Formats: sequence, structure tokens, C-alpha cells
Amino acid sequence: MKKQVYVSCPMDCFDLCRFRVTVENNRVIGLQGDPDHPLTRGVVCRKGKKLLEQLAHPGRLRHPLMKKGDAFVQISYDRVFDLLAEKLSSIKERYGNTAILNYTSDGYGGTKNRIQSIFFNCFGGDTRFEGSLCWGAGIAAQKYDFGAARGHLPQDILNSKLVILWGRNPKFTSIHLQSLLVRARKKGTHVIVIDPVKTATAKSFNTHIPIAPSTDGALALSMANVLIQENLVDSTFVRDHVKGFERFKAYVARFTPEVAQKITGIDAAVIKTLAMDYAVADPAAIYIGYGMQRYENGGNNIRCIDALAALAGHIGKRGGGVNYASKSLAPFLNSPEKKSQRFATETRTFLAAKLGAFLEDEPDPPIKIAFVASGNPLVQSPDLFTTVQQFSKIDFKVVFDHFMTDTAAHADIVLPAAFVFEQEDIFATSMYSHVLNFSQKAIDPPHTVLPEFEFFVKLAGRMGIDTLGFDSSAQYLNRCARPLLTQTKTVFDRDLAGLASAYVQIKAHDIAWEDKQFLTPSGKIEIYSERALADGLDALPQFIPPLAGGLKFPLRLLTCKAKDRMHSQGFMDETKTPILYINGKTAEDFKVHPGDRVRVCGKKAWIEAMVCLDEAIYENTAFMYQGYWHKSGAVNFLTESRVSDMGGQAAYYDSFCTLKPSVFV
Ligand code: SF4
Repeated sequence: MKKQVYVSCPMDCFDLCRFRVTVENNRVIGLQGDPDHPLTRGVVCRKGKKLLEQLAHPGRLRHPLMKKGDAFVQISYDRVFDLLAEKLSSIKERYGNTAILNYTSDGYGGTKNRIQSIFFNCFGGDTRFEGSLCWGAGIAAQKYDFGAARGHLPQDILNSKLVILWGRNPKFTSIHLQSLLVRARKKGTHVIVIDPVKTATAKSFNTHIPIAPSTDGALALSMANVLIQENLVDSTFVRDHVKGFERFKAYVARFTPEVAQKITGIDAAVIKTLAMDYAVADPAAIYIGYGMQRYENGGNNIRCIDALAALAGHIGKRGGGVNYASKSLAPFLNSPEKKSQRFATETRTFLAAKLGAFLEDEPDPPIKIAFVASGNPLVQSPDLFTTVQQFSKIDFKVVFDHFMTDTAAHADIVLPAAFVFEQEDIFATSMYSHVLNFSQKAIDPPHTVLPEFEFFVKLAGRMGIDTLGFDSSAQYLNRCARPLLTQTKTVFDRDLAGLASAYVQIKAHDIAWEDKQFLTPSGKIEIYSERALADGLDALPQFIPPLAGGLKFPLRLLTCKAKDRMHSQGFMDETKTPILYINGKTAEDFKVHPGDRVRVCGKKAWIEAMVCLDEAIYENTAFMYQGYWHKSGAVNFLTESRVSDMGGQAAYYDSFCTLKPSVFV
């Protein structure tokens, strides 16, 4: 008999779609977007649709595996539990908890992806990363400026007269923002894209302003300079809600459009017009992408833009804002992980960008065992040359995944992960969508697959750990959802079934900062931030000049997200050589032609790529999509493990390379 259930997209995406899934005889036979979803309205992207192919993929891992020599052999869960219980206990006794590496990322976005961390908290602690591979510098910047990163309700963009997409490419990464923008443009909204690359999004809108990578801060400061010179500062807003204007005014005086032209490559007249258009449009919104903060000066880039928006008075009003993320969910969901932190008495951290370097530095105690879930660090971490080398040396490694990824291939035990269709969970993103998805269980997992949540509950039982605070999925989800169920009791009948049957829009902040109650120490937007000062940064947003690769590595390498795949997910069958996109001038400089195979050489390693000429790419820039596995060529063998100025963000885009002829030609 057929039935229909609602399943969330589990990917690390701005939009958080929910699917209507048709099930027959414990098989998913259909997947479509839910037309009743308040944001996504039934439209899902190729990445979401591919989940069905992945569920039925013949390469899906279906059994626990253990490495024997160079091969993997099947092993029972009982044997796995015995082995891990024994190893964890003896490592804890001999070396202490911090000899355990707990690596959990966001490859699966449900609340249950915290189970590994809860387990290790209750076991007494571990070593894990802090900072971010993704968005940390921007979050830290907006915390200094506003007290938190908050975004407007997506549909509010229809109220904007002008929208600046600053380093954001929604056509590839957030299709529902793209369709809202198309609707807005039909109503007369002017959409401007500022990006070093003429992206698919830039091609679809009125104006593209190409900018030299890592110089966004200088452009924002110069626009602020124009606002001041042209008397376009919203002085009432600044007087009432902004701290540090006079100091900022003195600082930006040097960033005339002519000075900024030399830094950004944007004509001074264009900067002036852009600034004036932004100031007089009422209201005007800025949407920032995450790429812009993946530089050593990334946090300051965002702080400069926040300050510009504050001067224009475009904060806290309908159709305005500096939209980067929407960190407004915390009061609506409990975090059992946070609660379990009290049991973690021995902890150690390293920066997310520095996994390889951390291991190479021979920490004391050494890492004796590693657990990896919801992540593929041997593809996604920067400086893979060091990371792969050092990760391989760890005595014992356990990896959960759907497929034999490059990380799993280096493991001693590989455990098959459940798909989102095979368990119920709650999904809420802090990236863009304000809609919370309850995800129903559509089918049972194969009988040989124990979902991670149940795995760790059982392992805890086996090891006598009784502090998890739950012993079933329903108990855990009820705990997570408790604030939501109690605050919205009339709508959701105080239970998860109620939550499954309706959508919850997080209504706290439809218009970010509408109440002007900023969460900074002064209660104002802090262009001058003493918190930043106390953290060893400049109190004012600064323009920090971009890095350069020098004569040996003259090309900046940008490694962005592909259209149809999320990070390294969905690349299991990809064996093609990755494409290197460069413009004609760069090709001429390196004497390469379209279709040539070249070595793209970073400081420690090289990969082979096929040249494609594309005038959309900025000068002296090499552009490649990230996510390819080692078998075709992972770009992170070329990236460097630099860290941004704030938030511990991986500064992937401060990586430099050169081109050499391929040995295979
Ligand atoms: S990846 Fe994003 S846009 Fe695509 S289906 Fe998932 S949530 Fe929707």
C-alpha cells in the first residue's frame, strides 16, 4: 500500500526544503517538493532530487566493515561494540579523554547529528575542532556589530527597492532566494551583483560589478566615504542607534573612490553611483555570501559592510538589512549537547582549518582514536597534503558514512550511516530559511544498518554511560522541541505529531532588528566595538590589504560550490578530471589553451585539471569547483590552512597556485 510522508532535505543548504515522499512496501518510489512549504513552495533542486539515486545506489554501504590488510571485511555490530568499548576505555585510562578525536560536521543537518558529541561529552570529553570551515568570520563580525547575526524573513526581499548580492550566487546555492529575486525584479527592484566572478546569478540580473578578490572591505569603506561626502548619512538613525560614527568617519576619509579604484579595480565613478543608489533607495538590502569571509581579512570585510548599512540607516526596516545568517532559532530548540557539556571534564580544541597541522604538531597526548561523522575531512579540509598524511597515522579510526569516501577509505572501522528517509528528526537552519522542518521516517533502514543515533545510545549502554538523558529517538526529539511545543502549544498540540503536520515559521525576527534592541554591550550597532578590541582586533572595521602569492604562485585560487552537488556529497561516481576556469589573459600568460590538461600546483601538491577559458573569471584568478574526491582531483590538495581575522574561519580563498604542463600530455 502506498503512503505519503514528509521528509526534510538534510543538506547544509540555505533553503531547507521538505519533500513529499511516496512510499510503497518500504521503498521510496517518489520524491517531490512540498507545495505547502511556506518558502520553497514545492520547488526542490537537483541536489535534493539526487538523494533518491543515492538511497538506491549500488555502492551504498550496508554493513559495518573492518579493515584487514588493504581490504575491508564485514563485521557484526556486536563485535564493533566490544572492540570500541575496550579501545575507548583503555585509551581513556592510559592517555585521557583528549586522546580521542571527535570530528562531527554538517553533512547531515538534523538535530541527531549531535549524538556523537553528546556521547563523548558523557564519556568525559574529547578533542574536537572549534571555529569553522564555512561561515565563522561573518558570524563573529555581525556579533561585534549587532550582537548576533540575524536575517530578514526571505519574502521581505519583495519589499526592497534595491538589492546588493555581495559575493552571493543563489542560482547555485539558494534557488528560492533566486526566485524571490526574480519576482522582486519584476516589481521593479534593482538587483546588483558584486563578485570577482560573473556567476550564473550575476548573468541573470541587471548589474554585475566585478571586484578584485578580498577587497570588499575597501569598497564598503569607500561607499561609506561617499555617503559622508554627499550628506547621505541617515543622521537620525546614526545618532540614536550607532556607536562610533565620528571615529569611523575619520578612518574612512582616506578611502575616496579614487583610492578604492586602485584597490578594488572598480572605476571610481561606478563606486560613487553604487554608493548613492544604495543610500537613496528606500529600502535597500544587502545579501552577503560566505565566500567573501573566506579570507584572512574576511571578518573585517563583513564589518565594513555592516557599517555602511548602518550609516545608510538600512537596518531594522522592512526590505533592508545586511542578510548573512539567521541565528534566531536558539530560544525555540533545546540543545541536549549543551546540557551534556557538564560531563566533559577533559577537553581540547584545535581550529577547523588546522586539522592536519594540529596532528603534525604531535599534540600531547597524541590522538589515539578518531571518530568521524557527518563530514568528509579528507576532502573538505584545507591543506589535504598534510591532513591526509597525518590523519593516516592515527592508530585507529572510525568513520560513519553512506559511501566509501576518501575519509572512510582511511578508516579501520566503517559504519554505514542511515539516510534521512530512514529516521525521524528535526531540521532548522540558521542560514536563511525561517521554517523548521519535522522530518518523518519514510522507510526502515536495511536491517544491517544501525543509524548513528541508535548506535551511540547502544554503545553508551554497553559502556555503562547513563548520563545521555534519553534512550530513544522520540525522547530525544521531544527534548529538543520542548520550547517550541510549549511556546506554540495551541498550534502544535504539544507533541511531535503536531509538529509533523504543520510548518513552524520562526516568527521572532521577520524584520531583523526591527525593535532596534541590538545585543551589543551599548545596545547600539557598534561600528566601534570594545569587544573586538578586547579580542585583540581593531575596534573599527578595517581594510586589510589582500595577500598575494608572489612570483612562484601568481594565481589566486577560488574554490566554490558546484551547482548540483553539496560539497563532496554526490561525487561518488565522478571520475572526470576537474575543470580549471581562467580568463583569456591568464591563459595567454601561461601559454595554455582550452582543453589542455595542466597541473595546477599549490605550495605542497598539484592536481591535474582541464583548461576552460571563461571571461567571467577575474584576472590572475584560477577558479575550480570544490567537492571532487581524490580519484578525480580534490582541490583542497592546493588550498592552504590559513585562518580568518575573526571567528576561526578557514581562509580557503587565500590560496595561491601556478600552472604547469601536465606530465600526461
Ligand atoms: S539542497 Fe537546498 S534547495 Fe536543494 S533540495 Fe536541499 S534544501 Fe532544497
